[in-house]
Amino acid sequence: MFATVLERLLGRYGRQGWWPADSELEIMVGAVLVQRTAWRNAAAAVERLKSAGALSTNVLTTIPLGRLEHLITSAGFFRVKAKRLRALADSVARAGGVTVLRSYPTPRLRAYLLDVHGIGPETADSILGYAFERPVFVVDAYARRLFARLAYPDPLAADATLKSECEHALKTASNLNELHALIIAHGRASCGSIPRCLDCCLKSACGYARAESLASA
Ligand code: SF4
Repeated sequence: MFATVLERLLGRYGRQGWWPADSELEIMVGAVLVQRTAWRNAAAAVERLKSAGALSTNVLTTIPLGRLEHLITSAGFFRVKAKRLRALADSVARAGGVTVLRSYPTPRLRAYLLDVHGIGPETADSILGYAFERPVFVVDAYARRLFARLAYPDPLAADATLKSECEHALKTASNLNELHALIIAHGRASCGSIPRCLDCCLKSACGYARAESLASA
């Protein structure tokens, strides 16, 4: 099923080209800044950090928090996110830098990320996939909704099962990163809170569309 979803979404939306960034640290910072906001707001904050010369572990561990908050205002929740960026930078520094993290096996790197204040499974897996090119699938609200509808009326498997089955099926970071980006594109275009099934490229494989007699409409 996962390969079919990837193939059809690719055919519909094309490659999404995620994640535009110059370094692993930039992706890690972006992954924190994009929490609970749109990408354009996070991207503006990343650009401000860059312009201010603040997008480095050294600066992020030492810059006054008030100044950091000011630089990332566009991302929203800036007080919370400034503390999270500080915690992330402190943690990267303690590990010995991004180069050292790159050498960690995936389970160790995931555990390291999950140990950082403010980083949950979705942010950790985004960092693993896009910054460190590890073959992990990001289970977010878009993915849960899509796969619940595809599998309807069967209940959706737990996040961990969905994640491991998808990783097993698609195998590479390139495939899994692309699928995550495409699922978001599809969620925005068709499979949102109110699904628009008639024009959907997945409707022939979708339990929800079948149940609503839309699969062959
Ligand atoms: S057919 Fe409808 S419910 Fe199924 S994936 Fe497409 S938009 Fe979502």
